[in-house]
Amino acid sequence: MKTIALIAHDKKKSEMLEFVGHHKELLAKFHLIATRTTGTLINDTFDLHVETMLSGPMGGDQQIGARVAVGDVDYVVFLRDPLTSQPHEPDINALLRLCDVQDVPLATNRKSAHILLSYAAGKLSAAGEAAAKG
Ligand code: PGA
Repeated sequence: MKTIALIAHDKKKSEMLEFVGHHKELLAKFHLIATRTTGTLINDTFDLHVETMLSGPMGGDQQIGARVAVGDVDYVVFLRDPLTSQPHEPDINALLRLCDVQDVPLATNRKSAHILLSYAAGKLSAAGEAAAKG
């Protein structure tokens, strides 16, 4: 099962919930990981069994970065708030950097997140068809 990491800064959490609600049937086909507050909100709202890390400012971005570094994450949706300074900016930059190191598709805003998920959906159905053909 492919893994998607979901992270949203505080002012982007409602946008994340809207995004997840829109794609929940598709997201159910992935292993989902998230920083704590983002993941807890998703779990409380949808039946998606998101695996939660620490909260972002407490090291959750670093935990997700560690998973990216070892190749355990296939896609990252990180709805960042570009208008508010974050105490854990170095951790955020480290996560973004590791996505580039590992060539992991990364979306940092809503529209690119939708594009990323339609790509992931295409990959998933191509893999399903290939498996069906044997
Ligand atoms: P949170 O972390 O989901 O625990 O709020 C997100 C972040 O601020 O990086």
